[in-house]
Amino acid sequence: MQRHILAALMPTDLNYLDNAATSWPKPPEVGAAITSFLAEKAGNPGRGGHRLARAAGDLVEQARERLAAEIHAPCAKRMILTHGCTDSVNLAVHGVLRAAIRRCAEPKPHVVVSGIEHNAILRTVHCFHNDKHILMDIVPCDSEGWVDPAAVAAVCTPETVLVSVAHASNAVGTIQDAPAISRAVRAAAPEALFMVDAAQTLGHMPIDVEAMGIDLLAIAGHKGLCGPTGTGGLYVSERAYPDTGDSRVFCQRRGGTGMKSVGLDMPTELPDALEAGTTNAAGFAGLLAAMDARDPGAHEREMRLTGRILDELRAMPGITVHGRPGTEGRTPVVLFSIEGWTARDVGDILDAQHGICVRGGTHCAPLLHQLIGTGDGGAVRASPGWATTDAEIDAFLEAVGTLVRSPAPAVPKA
Ligand code: PMP
Repeated sequence: MQRHILAALMPTDLNYLDNAATSWPKPPEVGAAITSFLAEKAGNPGRGGHRLARAAGDLVEQARERLAAEIHAPCAKRMILTHGCTDSVNLAVHGVLRAAIRRCAEPKPHVVVSGIEHNAILRTVHCFHNDKHILMDIVPCDSEGWVDPAAVAAVCTPETVLVSVAHASNAVGTIQDAPAISRAVRAAAPEALFMVDAAQTLGHMPIDVEAMGIDLLAIAGHKGLCGPTGTGGLYVSERAYPDTGDSRVFCQRRGGTGMKSVGLDMPTELPDALEAGTTNAAGFAGLLAAMDARDPGAHEREMRLTGRILDELRAMPGITVHGRPGTEGRTPVVLFSIEGWTARDVGDILDAQHGICVRGGTHCAPLLHQLIGTGDGGAVRASPGWATTDAEIDAFLEAVGTLVRSPAPAVPKA
């Protein structure tokens, strides 16, 4: 039996349309792999030479290799295992900026981000900017969530050390032309490192870091790859961390790596240089199983269901669908508003009365919502996943239709 049909038979009355936040259900192989890891292999990976430590270490290295292969990294050691995309972004932003400031505090290093970014990037870069350590430019997107590569290049200066753009907006689903941004940035500021936040795209579309000109790629394991929460990765290119030393990523997280324990300095070799502390090996056992179990037809099904949501919501009076007109250039995400309703009320009522999980609000992407005109309270996001069925989309559309025909809840008096 096909796995998505199996999932549809799972005993649940939940209609989960919040896969852009985290994928659910996880493929059954994920839980099985975590259970078997905990029962049979759960030593401390890389720490000690006994069989359990070796078994855990082997598993972690397999997960690293699998994740590196997923993005066509030239070698597995350039894949740093993290706790999620926010962790990866923090490692990269702190790493690049601390290295730049240590090298030369004046003139101040300059960072470029786009208006579609998640708070994972915005707040991390803002912290340096607020403390007056860096200069920062934010390149706006248009009303469909598109970032113009030429506009990114136009704000680059000789001091630009980092340009960071999300591969796709988590709120509106618009996919960016990462290779074109990379080319434009390399022409305008050859020394700048180009980071891509792939939280919303990896698992949905192919990524080839070298072909796309990406220096740093931040990955979430729990979204499109369908792994457990608490897993992620940061790809670090040769330009960012040359084999010859002179790294442009200074890791302020320090600690044990299980290797070269004598001496107070961190090892300089990847991945250990950027990976202190015990890895979430149980989580990576689950992520490895998720990647191995991936259903190659899932993305096509998700996009077909996304197309249905787009078309049928657009046909309802009183609904505004945000972003691009169709499924072209978008991830399986639809952002919409219902006239007279707050996004929060729509989400709460869909959950309480219909068992439907969507996300209402500003999705940790406050600038994007301001730029597309939904800054005041945000909008509602529906995001089907690998296990979503047509029947669930029917039920979602029917429930939204009911809301459209109902009076919105009264706004409580202040
Ligand atoms: N970036 C984007 C574009 C995201 O959608 C998310 C998750 N909402 C993150 C970063 C943060 O990822 P994580 O939850 O893995 O920390």
